[in-house]
Amino acid sequence: MAPLTDSLGRVHTYLRISVTDRCNYRCTYCMPAEGFRWMPHAEVLSYEEITRLARIFAAAGVRRLRLTGGEPTLRKDLPELVGMLSEIPGIQDIALTTNGHFLVDQAEPLARAGLRRINISLDSLRPERFARLTRGGDLARVLRGIEAAHQAGLRPVKINAVLLKGENEDEVEELVEHFGQQADRTELRFIEYMPFEARWHQCVPAAKVRQRLAERYTLIPQRGSSGEGPARSWMIEESGLLVGFISPLTEHFCAGCNRLRLMANGHLRTCLAHEDTPSLRDLLRQGASDEQLDRAIRAMVMGKPWGHDCQADGGTLFEGVMTGVGG
Ligand code: SAM
Ligand code: SF4
Repeated sequence: MAPLTDSLGRVHTYLRISVTDRCNYRCTYCMPAEGFRWMPHAEVLSYEEITRLARIFAAAGVRRLRLTGGEPTLRKDLPELVGMLSEIPGIQDIALTTNGHFLVDQAEPLARAGLRRINISLDSLRPERFARLTRGGDLARVLRGIEAAHQAGLRPVKINAVLLKGENEDEVEELVEHFGQQADRTELRFIEYMPFEARWHQCVPAAKVRQRLAERYTLIPQRGSSGEGPARSWMIEESGLLVGFISPLTEHFCAGCNRLRLMANGHLRTCLAHEDTPSLRDLLRQGASDEQLDRAIRAMVMGKPWGHDCQADGGTLFEGVMTGVGG
């Protein structure tokens, strides 16, 4: 079958699946403080529906899946979904992005079900600041979750840190030192804040962070990237730690974008910044055949925008709320 190609010739082999928009944390950069309405349960794709859609994407050339949310480990029996997805012909890799809160109990069953890799979000190593940024998160528990992921054999564990001006940008070196002690099994990635709300001023440009690190460490550029993503990586020579930078605002990577996002309500986002219609869930529940779903997916991919125009200090805001999209 022909690959999932858009009008610019970009081939799509990577699908992020948001399994829920719910979350036990309320990170300040991800969710509004209040007034947030969860998707009703009936609107959220079931495991069977996710698996059917993933099978259609796999037949069209998708090879890697990442489960995200909201907080994916809140969804009941997540290992069951991992098991269902890992049986799909063509899928070579299943990964998870999580806040790590429930990993102490779940890392092992997830790995046994077929999970290969994991990204854990952690923006601060200071308990009070961590609790403030996540609006109630438990740092000690997340650190135990990271350990559980190591014990379960998930390699490498990638730590995602969103840097916010005036809030945690002073912790860059602390994070590098801490995870440098486990450089054989951990990678660290700094992510630029993406403006789902009007908070432009909080983006810390990746180049500035690299410059700061270069004043203290020897940075060795890495060829290609570590895994599937848009991260550009450097190795800290002193510790061997791989540090990646995901910089959607200051170093756009839209031109090489190979990713698609399936939201918990079945909407596809061929571009992170913009929601496609109709919802694949609606087509599926109206009785569409696999061929009809494949055609609808291809039409949306063909209409994928060239990219987003968001800069560190201007441009169009991303649509919706991050918990619905999954990062
Ligand atoms: N709850 C899980 C977690 O926190 O890892 C998965 C979902 S979360 C939406 C996925 C990733 O998006 C996390 O690494 C999070 O830090 C990142 N993220 C959330 N809001 C963001 C924003 N406004 N800009 C950049 N990254 C963001
Ligand atoms: Fe929840 Fe993850 Fe968003 Fe934080 S970043 S509120 S943990 S979905």
